[in-house]
Amino acid sequence: MNPAVQSLYDVHAPYGVVEILPGIFRLPIPLPRNPLRELNAYLIRGRERSLLIDTGFRLPECRQALQEGLRAAGAEKDPLDVFLTHIHTDHTGLASEVVRPGGALYLGEGDFPFTHQAYEDAYWAGIDQRFLREGFPVEELKATRGTNPARNLGPTLDLPNYRMVKDGEVLTVGDYTLRVIATPGHTPGQLCLWLEAAGILFTADHVLFDITPNITMWPNLPNALGRYLESLEKVRALPVKLALPGHRHTGDLEARIQALFTHHRNRVGETLAIVQREPGLTAYQVASRMTWDIKADSWEAFPLNQKWFATGEALAHLEYLMEAGQVAREAGPEGSARYVPQGK
Ligand SMILES: [Zn+2]
Repeated sequence: MNPAVQSLYDVHAPYGVVEILPGIFRLPIPLPRNPLRELNAYLIRGRERSLLIDTGFRLPECRQALQEGLRAAGAEKDPLDVFLTHIHTDHTGLASEVVRPGGALYLGEGDFPFTHQAYEDAYWAGIDQRFLREGFPVEELKATRGTNPARNLGPTLDLPNYRMVKDGEVLTVGDYTLRVIATPGHTPGQLCLWLEAAGILFTADHVLFDITPNITMWPNLPNALGRYLESLEKVRALPVKLALPGHRHTGDLEARIQALFTHHRNRVGETLAIVQREPGLTAYQVASRMTWDIKADSWEAFPLNQKWFATGEALAHLEYLMEAGQVAREAGPEGSARYVPQGK
């Protein structure tokens, strides 16, 4: 990273509230019992209204940290709008509590359906059906019920003050002008915010520096990995001086994007090699043969939630290979989906 940026924001700043630019704060929110460890909420103070970017889970530890952060930034009484970078509950969980009367909850177009679907049993039943078809064992699926943070740590209500924001929309907060950059992939509606005047990009979970953002299957975003890689190209084109991610530390954006491309190219290659070696596997079986950065001796020893995420990630890579014409999906026994190589 260039020295000017380093002085703007210490990449290894102590765990605390940091004022990055006048009126722009990072508010650290711990994520208890979660491997992501902490969320970076950001606050931009305006004269009439302030903007909070993301909130943490709907858990007491997150609530307390957010309140302390707002107080440290002198914003505990500010009328507050909330910009939700995406629908994941570590980002949205407290939205219904912190939005102040008359405030807006901004959310991207692609994530908008989940503001009500996340509360509908029919939606989750559809996801369950999909995972069963992809080879996830029914008894393992039953055992994951009630443990998925997407289902129990989100905002309390389907709120009326959600406001859909689209790519290119401009938000003004105090002296700052921010442009919405839609970056579908991590979720269908994942958004970045671009503060062009300062060269600051709020990357949310589109680009993380200490963790590889999870790319999974979405019913309303076919080939999420393909869309994700396009979205990486999109932010790579911006003259970013400082990237502010949704979790943990910042770093060199260009180098990180390059590393993410390499990572997914290797992952796609690994997935294809598995399908070529053993044609006719389910996505669950493909996931069991991929290499994972998880502390478990074997696939059998994986925590069930991790198996669920791994299967989703394998699916994203299989869909990518299908769009590239290298893999095909075939009907297997009992309506299961099987993957076979295609082409020469
Ligand atoms: Zn996320």
